[in-house]
Amino acid sequence: MYHVRAPLPATFYPSWIPGFPQNENRFDLIRITTDDGVDGWAAGPAMGREREAMGYLIAPYVIGEDPTDIPTMQQRLREMSYLGLRNWWVEPAFWDIKGKLANQSICELLGGTPRRIKLYASTGEVKRAEERIEEAEARYEEGFRCIKLRVHAFDEKEDIDQVVRTAKAIGDKMKIGVDANQAWRVAAIADAPRWDLARAKRFADVCADAGVAWLEEPLPMDEYDALAELAAYSTVPISGGEIHTGGLPELKMMIERRCYDIFQPDAVFTGGIAQTFEIAGLCRQHGLQYTPHTWTNGFGFAANLQLMAASGFADDKELEYPLDPPGWVPSARDAVLLRPFVHDRGELEFPTGPGLGFEIDRAALRRYGKRVFIMDKKRLVGFALRDRGFKAAREIDAHRRARRSGRPSA
Ligand SMILES: [Mg+2]
Repeated sequence: MYHVRAPLPATFYPSWIPGFPQNENRFDLIRITTDDGVDGWAAGPAMGREREAMGYLIAPYVIGEDPTDIPTMQQRLREMSYLGLRNWWVEPAFWDIKGKLANQSICELLGGTPRRIKLYASTGEVKRAEERIEEAEARYEEGFRCIKLRVHAFDEKEDIDQVVRTAKAIGDKMKIGVDANQAWRVAAIADAPRWDLARAKRFADVCADAGVAWLEEPLPMDEYDALAELAAYSTVPISGGEIHTGGLPELKMMIERRCYDIFQPDAVFTGGIAQTFEIAGLCRQHGLQYTPHTWTNGFGFAANLQLMAASGFADDKELEYPLDPPGWVPSARDAVLLRPFVHDRGELEFPTGPGLGFEIDRAALRRYGKRVFIMDKKRLVGFALRDRGFKAAREIDAHRRARRSGRPSA
């Protein structure tokens, strides 16, 4: 495991953490290597060094297992989560290995066909109407035909002003989405506005009049009744669902209750690629739509890109493309990837590599990453002896060996 701190070219102020000057793209990276030397990679966004010891939880569960056996890997990750530590971010690494061994993209493993993907420019900072219009014009010139705005004002008149004026300026040539980031409110640094159903309904009406294509996360993520009421009320599609770490069971319930019109589960959080693919399928069955959240880092983007291509929704929906220059740009977002996912006129050529489709920039990883944990079969023996004692370690080992050989153990 590596802790990566890649500097941003300029300070970035994410609307979802008011008051936070973000100067780094920070994440934890896991590299899982098979006996034959095939590497699988995955990453989870980090605030600080909170995952540094997590290898001690993950490694004993997965070392010695078959990484291509996704149901078993899902079960191991589920077992790790029982005491509250959820590690779905690790799961794409197993798919990466599976794809590399089969020389196929994950999209193909899921039965899909690699394809060019339409993107929407996902802004991150809050801006006033004049700056927002300028920004949207810049994205339009670059080829984007869809953009997502952020609203985050205490006074809803400011939010309305931004959306109405931006829609008036560019609405005839660009599709517009609006993200209120109310699902997981963060008020740890500066205070953050808190919407209720009445404000969400008023704002949905404004969005409808302005011709907005979707309204994202207008209410807390677990206010299921209010979300379902709002989705039924609003003529503008309501979207959300990005960080439901309960995965498939939680999102299945929300799909059945029609909490959103467009579901945006992010595989990094919502049960990995396997559960998120099923969630996309359920959306189709229920006549709802799917397009994943991707705003973590290049590794998360890669995993959700594969899902989008395989989902069957890529004809109708654009995929989120996090972009907010000068701070949040592809080179920093996709730090330590050899070839960042750079758009071509608002679309993305599907990566040609197997698995997750990227290669690691080893020099960049050395520069920005610090290895914080390493474990292999040999080290695991030593660790178990030190950590559990000889007798317990021997018993555990005997059960594992017996199980792998298919013999029953006492
Ligand atoms: Mg969002």
